[in-house]
This record gives sequence, C-alpha cells and structure tokens, in this order.
Amino acid sequence: MPGVSMVALPAQEIGKFRRRLLAWFAKRKRDLPWRKTKDPYRIWLSEIMLQQTRVAAVVPYYNNFLVRFPGVQALARAREEAILSHWAGLGYYSRARNLHRAAQEIVARHGSVFPREYDAALALPGIGRYTAAAVLSIAYNEPHAVLDGNVARVLARLHAVRGDLRAPALWKRLETAAQELLVRNTPGDWNQAMMELGATVCVPKSPKCEECPVAQWCRARKLGIAGQLPEARKKRPPVRIALAAAVLIDPGGRTLLVRQDGGDGALFSRMWQFPALETTAGAASKLARHLREKFGVKVTRGRMTKLKTVRHSVTFREIRLEPFLIRVAGLPEIAGARTPMLRRFGRLPISSVTRKIVDTAIADSENKGALSP
Ligand code: SF4
Repeated sequence: MPGVSMVALPAQEIGKFRRRLLAWFAKRKRDLPWRKTKDPYRIWLSEIMLQQTRVAAVVPYYNNFLVRFPGVQALARAREEAILSHWAGLGYYSRARNLHRAAQEIVARHGSVFPREYDAALALPGIGRYTAAAVLSIAYNEPHAVLDGNVARVLARLHAVRGDLRAPALWKRLETAAQELLVRNTPGDWNQAMMELGATVCVPKSPKCEECPVAQWCRARKLGIAGQLPEARKKRPPVRIALAAAVLIDPGGRTLLVRQDGGDGALFSRMWQFPALETTAGAASKLARHLREKFGVKVTRGRMTKLKTVRHSVTFREIRLEPFLIRVAGLPEIAGARTPMLRRFGRLPISSVTRKIVDTAIADSENKGALSP
C-alpha cells in the first residue's frame, strides 16, 4: 500500500528525541485546569469536553460543571436535564448523555472509581480507544499511547507519511508507531507532550518548524513537504436542510418549547426546541398546518412575522432555518412541554441553533417593542 511505511528513528536517537520533547513540554505546556489533577473523573471530563471543541471554549464549561457535579457520584445521581443545561452551548450533546450513563455504570459496577483496565474503560458509553488511553495514562500512569488528530499529524510529518490518515490501515500503523514511541514510565506526560506539540507547534496549516523541539528528526521537514502533510481527506459533501420554526408568544411574553426524539428533534440535539418542521418551499403555510395538526394552535398567515433566517452548521449538515414569530392569545396546554418566558430560559437546556432563534426573536421584538414585559 503506497504511503504507509513508517521509518523508525535509529535506536540511539529515540532516547534523545523523547528527552527533548518531554523537556520542551515541561517548559512550554499551557496552564490548563485539568493539568493540575490526577483525578480520573476530572481528566475523563476534560477529555470528553475537548472532543471536537477548542480548549478556550472548554475551560469555563469544565470549571462550572465541576462546581455542580464535583464527582462521579454527583453526576450519576443528577437528572439528565441538569447535566444538559450545564453542557448547553458546548455542542455534540450525545457526549453529555454518554457521560451521564457512564457515570451510572461506574457507580454501579466499579465502586464509583473510573476503571483502571483498558477493556473495562472501553466498555463504558462514550469512551473510545483515544479517551481510554488518555484517561488511563494521565490518571493512572498506564502505558497506553494516545492517537488523536494532533498526534497523527505529528507522526505523519515525522515519518513523511502520505495518504488519508483516517484510512483504517494507515490509522492502525500510526497507532503502532505511537505505541512504539511511548515513554512507558511517564505515559501521561508523554501523551500530553505529543498532543501539545500538535496543538501548538505542529499545527495543521503552517507548522512552526523553527520552534519545534524535534525538528532534527522530522522527515517531512527535511523533504520540504511539512506544509503539504497530512494530505487532504476527501470531504463528505454537505447535506443541506431547510427548517421552519414557530416562536409562539402569548400576551405575557411566554413561549412554547417542546422536545422531540426523532425526526427534526435530532437537529436540535433532542433538547428543548421551538415547534419546527423540515420544509423547502411554502414554509409559512406548512408551519401553520403543522401547528394546527400537531399542537391544536390555529394561526393565520397575517399573525406570522418572518424573522431573520438562521444558519447553522453541524459536521456535514448545513441548516437553514426560517423562524416565525407568532402572537397568540394563549399557549396550548401540551403534556411534557415547557412555557418559559422568551427572555428568561434560565437553565433549560437548549442547543445553539435554538439559542440563535431566541436571539433573533428578541432582537426583532425589541425593534418593534412587541415583547412584554
Ligand atoms: Fe511538525 Fe515541523 Fe516539528 Fe516536523 S519539524 S514535527 S513538521 S513542527
């Protein structure tokens, strides 16, 4: 298979390479809250929050979450809604749901302590190979190498590997290479050093090779191709989705939120959302019919004010959402629905797309002085 060969460092150089990277990490590592602890719960939480999410965005969520859920037992006991409300805005909400389920399993089966064994960790909801290796190496000093996007990029450049790094055969080779490089007596520091190098120096677009502590061993740099690696993956074409949503407002300024498990509920991460439906043309009349048939709310086109279109992207999905502000004399009574003030959702968990609709509705209403109180 072209592009998958890994040229190992000469044995006599490996020690030097490791010492150089660890010394750099000790001096340059960013001061992050989860680096001040060996508590497996805190490390696990940070690793889950950091998936697909920038460090700067995670820090305040991490700190707040720990105030409310300081340990695995508190998390296991909590209601899902309380957990989601502390996750709202961070996105990828299945992470929070899995975290909750895993905490319950840890309490039920592992004496409330994150398991030390790799297979037991891997069996928990939401824990993949990367997260298991990260938590076990950092919290328990277990010798498991991590492989995430940052580490894969560093390895691909060090070895001048071409091809799609996420192709299973190549990913496997990278895992082996990561495990061979691992410093077994300080696996947590080593893993973090590799990830830190990828996050701060060996960055995706323009690697800062002049600042790199291991530049002398880098094949991609020697070949002058560091900026070309890793090679671009084939992108999945985006799926475009059009939705219409109803922001019902009663004379007291209350609105209606529902929760849907299937269909468009998934686009709102199964959190509280405005009544909505997928539609292409004729959004207003389809929405009016949807409100009538599903919620028993009769609205006429004349009472529907079209708000600014909201755009939102989640992985490969591009959502175009047309919200309508609809004034009603009274909100329907629906079992399991919520009717908060539009201006005060408090800790109700809502997704980012719903937050955008709220902001649009409030801005529009303020312009027109339409909302009370
Ligand atoms: Fe990455 Fe450049 Fe260092 Fe090579 S020399 S590992 S490309 S930062």
